[in-house]
Amino acid sequence: MAPVLNPANEAVIADVPSMSAEQADAAIAAAERALPAWRAVAPGDRARLLRQFATVVREHREELAQLEVANAGHTIGNARWEADNVANVLDYYSGAPERLFGRQIPVPNGIDITFKEAIGVVGIIVPWNFPMPIAGWGFVPALAAGCTVVLKPAELTPLTAIRLAELGLEAGLPEGVFTVVTGKGSVVGQRFVDNPTVRKVVFTGSTSVGTQVMAGCAQQIKRVTLELGGKSANIIFADSDLEKAAATAPYGVFDNAGQDCCARSRILVQRSVFDKFMGLFESAVSGVVVGDPTADATEMGPLISQSQRDVVRSFVPADAPIAFQGKCPDGAGFWFPPTVLAPVAATDRAFQEEIFGPVVVVVPFEDEAEAIRLANDSEYGLSGSIWSRDIGRAIRVARAVESGNLSVNSNSSVRYWTPFGGFKQSGLGRELGPDALDSFTEVKNVFIDTSQ
Ligand code: NAD
Repeated sequence: MAPVLNPANEAVIADVPSMSAEQADAAIAAAERALPAWRAVAPGDRARLLRQFATVVREHREELAQLEVANAGHTIGNARWEADNVANVLDYYSGAPERLFGRQIPVPNGIDITFKEAIGVVGIIVPWNFPMPIAGWGFVPALAAGCTVVLKPAELTPLTAIRLAELGLEAGLPEGVFTVVTGKGSVVGQRFVDNPTVRKVVFTGSTSVGTQVMAGCAQQIKRVTLELGGKSANIIFADSDLEKAAATAPYGVFDNAGQDCCARSRILVQRSVFDKFMGLFESAVSGVVVGDPTADATEMGPLISQSQRDVVRSFVPADAPIAFQGKCPDGAGFWFPPTVLAPVAATDRAFQEEIFGPVVVVVPFEDEAEAIRLANDSEYGLSGSIWSRDIGRAIRVARAVESGNLSVNSNSSVRYWTPFGGFKQSGLGRELGPDALDSFTEVKNVFIDTSQ
């Protein structure tokens, strides 16, 4: 068993089994046994089961949200959104089984048709930063495609995944169709990579572990989707609505205490408005409400663990160029204040590395070309924002930034009905959106000879 902590007060809130490789293999074998019957469920019936699952998740929205507040330190507002996200994703992909179209392709002497066949058993590996949405983005389209799923939550945040699997059974999913296996990445996660019965791995987490997962999957040409780190740029031009850009910038990076792969952790500001921006940004940062995540007004909670706080602290040593800093509680809990670093050079560690905490760097640029060069000066390419009233410029810059999810005059990157994923070392493949089932199906081509 492994203890699970509340990161806001360090209290032990549960003990969760740390499963062995043999237990992981048993869950994978059960998923394989459940596969033929699940694949054969009529499309309309599979759709109904997913809709029923969405209904049950909605009925347990508050319970799931409170569980996430206690286990991950998420603010109650965010946690409710996250529970709703699982239900919304279930509803969205309940429309998919009846629309899993193939094609009919003209050929001489016959008919050629394609089928999208369920890929088989899918292994989903989830990080601790958004336990519910990231689980749902994987298991929901996989189930809709006719795959069965084994899912490993992060060791630090297993509670909502365990509950979601129970709710799936309550909604009528057959045994073995969606199983949560708790335990270590190096044990359970590694079995998803090594056990040949698992035909596809969806991994969300750090680029370093993702690299190992991809290399392991390569041994079996196992299909893999990777959603990895980020170091996204928030590019603010002088011709933008500067007040709005500054007022929203803290939430674009400090949401979930900066433990967000889409965090806009590099703010690039045109030099002619840099000082004005910093003044507006300072008052916006001082307005971020950091504290008890159960309180409705709280906007930022604690970091997930002591070790994550140590990592974040390493980016803010005693001689760090702190431009300004917000406040946070002291005492028990893994707290860290919103922190703004400037001046920072593009070669500095704080500019280049993913911090995954409430620390942002602000860097000036002269013109459009320099903004694009700085934004692309990263091994990552997940998200980002562009603020300008010049629509031509906004679109030019959006096309030039090497990143999978950009927003103009906004910091929002995720909608379950649009594709999500990274360029460069931020990942491989796309989740969500209308094409998500393509990652869980193989295209089969069948030719039928009609000649006499
Ligand atoms: P992590 O890579 O340490 O762990 C992620 C998951 O992988 C955990 O469940 C862990 O147990 C498991 N794991 C660890 N070693 C493994 C192995 N050898 N084989 C198989 N599985 C293994 O990442 P983390 O610290 O939990 O999460 C933070 C990272 O996740 C950040 O880098 C963040 O950017 C990234 N992230 C990316 C996205 C995205 O969509 N791109 C979303 C959320 C988080």
